[in-house]
Amino acid sequence: MTPRRLADLAGGGRLVIATHNAGKLREIAALLAPFGMACVAAGELGLAEPAETGASFADNALLKAQAAAEASGLPALADDSGLCVAALGGRPGVYTADWAERQWFEGEAGRDWFMAMGKVEGLLCAAGAHVNRAAYFACTLAVAWPGGGSTIYEGRVGGTMVWPPRGGLGFGYDPVFVPAGGNQTFAEIDPAEKHRISHRAAAFAALVKAEFGA
Ligand code: IMP
Repeated sequence: MTPRRLADLAGGGRLVIATHNAGKLREIAALLAPFGMACVAAGELGLAEPAETGASFADNALLKAQAAAEASGLPALADDSGLCVAALGGRPGVYTADWAERQWFEGEAGRDWFMAMGKVEGLLCAAGAHVNRAAYFACTLAVAWPGGGSTIYEGRVGGTMVWPPRGGLGFGYDPVFVPAGGNQTFAEIDPAEKHRISHRAAAFAALVKAEFGA
């Protein structure tokens, strides 16, 4: 059987974007806009968000895409991403968002990115003055089809962890990450430039090439 490709949805076929994050949804829908499919958010279809219990970015992206495809009967696209620091054995990795989780009081959680960045820096400092500060952001995209069949695409951007945090742009760990070949953090550089070189851009480039032959 010929493997299915997202290109088959051109002309208005529906694709579920399996994220409940409004920012990601906008970004993914904009990236796919030139390819003529109708993007539908998982939330719009009332789909539940599965727990991210996987041991890798690929596991988590796949479990989100497969759950959405099975529940909706439509093909689905999901992503998972995070920061991997060499000297910390790849941590925080799939726990990147969790390291910013702060329980303010029972039942409510807030994300504290300064705390998360400080935790990474604290562990690097504890490892010694000459610790290797290499790190990378990774993004995995998964396309899953109802009834079975899935493909994953991965992108990375390498760089160095710096301290103190610098810059007011971007989000998450951007203020402490300087991409290779530069000297500004992801939170200091023009967002258009970040989107051109980021792990997400690399994963999307791989997806577009394989799924649309572009
Ligand atoms: P998830 O992909 O929604 O599970 O979350 C991954 C986490 O990784 C995010 O909450 C961010 O903290 C972090 N992250 C992913 N991509 C970036 C990025 O481009 N800059 C900064 N932080 C990122």
